[in-house]
Amino acid sequence: MNVALVIPAAGSGERLGRGVSKALVDVGGTALLRRTLDRLAAAADFVETIVLAPSHDIARFEAAVAGAGSSLGSVRILAGGATRQQSVAAGVAAVTSSMDVVCVHDAARPLVSARTVRAVVEAAFTGGAATAASRPSDSVRADIAGGNSVALDRSTLWLVETPQAFRREILERGHLEAVSRGNAFTDDASLVEAIGHPIHIVESEGRNLKITLAADLMLAAELLRAS
Ligand code: C5P
Repeated sequence: MNVALVIPAAGSGERLGRGVSKALVDVGGTALLRRTLDRLAAAADFVETIVLAPSHDIARFEAAVAGAGSSLGSVRILAGGATRQQSVAAGVAAVTSSMDVVCVHDAARPLVSARTVRAVVEAAFTGGAATAASRPSDSVRADIAGGNSVALDRSTLWLVETPQAFRREILERGHLEAVSRGNAFTDDASLVEAIGHPIHIVESEGRNLKITLAADLMLAAELLRAS
């Protein structure tokens, strides 16, 4: 099985308030992007890795990934787009046609476990499309008419994460269809589901935290120190 890795890392990270591209912020002495790539390199063998970076920051991203693990295969930094979907689409368009599976993982999730990465990739190879996800730990309610809300059964709900992985042709078709229909999605599983493909869920092992706010950075540094 030939697996390509696509890392959307072109977010500005405005909510972090660090004045630097989010993927380059320091987490316990190492750039966030490098932390995430090192996790993935330890988890599986990829033939190629494509990182989507802000177009003004390509050189700094190249410095941050220099010397990353050989299990990432050939590593390329390309310019991302204005939205996450556009960034991933640019990565998918650059994937070599000999790849069977494309694994998409946000640079902002440096704590992903090796078992989760492997299980998602395997499930994509077998069934075509898979995502990591966790059960909500809070009770959950949904809006209903009249400004009221109704309780949902959280044991049937999933919080969707990355990694997500897909057979290459399925992900390519999902992105092409999304563009031709003018649809916007916050993740790739939704875009693949929209072309009628079922999504297999792999429950994340451990805490697959996404770095959004400054407090997340402190927690991630602490969890990485302990792991
Ligand atoms: O903003 P959010 O945390 O949802 O972004 C998820 C991932 O998508 C991050 O790794 C971020 O760098 C990436 N992204 C991107 N291009 C954008 C916006 C976000 O690659 N235009």
